[in-house]
Amino acid sequence: MHSTMMLLGVWFGLLTLTYTLPVKNSTGVHEGKVRSKRRYSDEIDPDEMNIMDQILEVNNRLRAPRGLAIRDGDIASSYLQSAITCAGNTCLWPKSVDGFVYVPYLLSPLYDDMDRITIETGMQDISAGTCIKFVPRTHEANFLDIQPRYGCWSFLGQTGGSQTLSLQSPGCMWSGVASHELMHALGFVHEQSRSDRDHYVTIVWNNIVPAYIHNFKKQVTNNLNSPYDYSSVMHYGRYAFSDGSGPTIIPKPDPYIPIGQRDGPSALDLHKINVLYDCGPTE
Ligand SMILES: [Zn+2]
Repeated sequence: MHSTMMLLGVWFGLLTLTYTLPVKNSTGVHEGKVRSKRRYSDEIDPDEMNIMDQILEVNNRLRAPRGLAIRDGDIASSYLQSAITCAGNTCLWPKSVDGFVYVPYLLSPLYDDMDRITIETGMQDISAGTCIKFVPRTHEANFLDIQPRYGCWSFLGQTGGSQTLSLQSPGCMWSGVASHELMHALGFVHEQSRSDRDHYVTIVWNNIVPAYIHNFKKQVTNNLNSPYDYSSVMHYGRYAFSDGSGPTIIPKPDPYIPIGQRDGPSALDLHKINVLYDCGPTE
């Protein structure tokens, strides 16, 4: 009788274990799947998400803020001042006599310490290899007003006055996302928007959600005599704006070249900033 009770107890214990553990686990797996399903494409391996994939994930349901339009996924333009006019060498931040380009910024008090560190790391990743210095604003008339608005987005180049750069928390809290948006503010468009992109990538128009086809328009860009950079922090991911039937961007001639990355500005990104801002030789 006693041993039967014990056996029953063990059996019941095991039953409870088998029913609690796997249920918990499978819920986790299920949540993961649901989460990746919510991405604009369920073909992206979460481990391979690059900076732009993360931005589009956050901006997925972004409605443009009042008075603004968002194009190419994360570039803001106002109806009054078209950011597209910044695509050339206009709208650059001015160079100081000491050879540095100071970009004043305000960080919203809504950010916590971790957020500030992440954003400042994104700044330092640019500053470390270029003549761009992001400095807390004191009295400057033109500055970046960095706020946790809805989504990750920026204007293109210097617009004059206070210009919002949105880094939502926690969605945009990757230093690479901060670097990406800061590079828009420095005047850079997405890498696959370059005027010469058709030599380097095939855009698979049939796989793009029709409403987003405009996000693949080429821009008139100054390519700064620099090679096309598949690993630019400004490159869309392979499945950007895919309708689920396959990749939207295929590198050529080798379709397996990895595109975009998640760490931060590439060596070529920094090189291009140096050329655009005429930084001179840097270490
Ligand atoms: Zn962007």
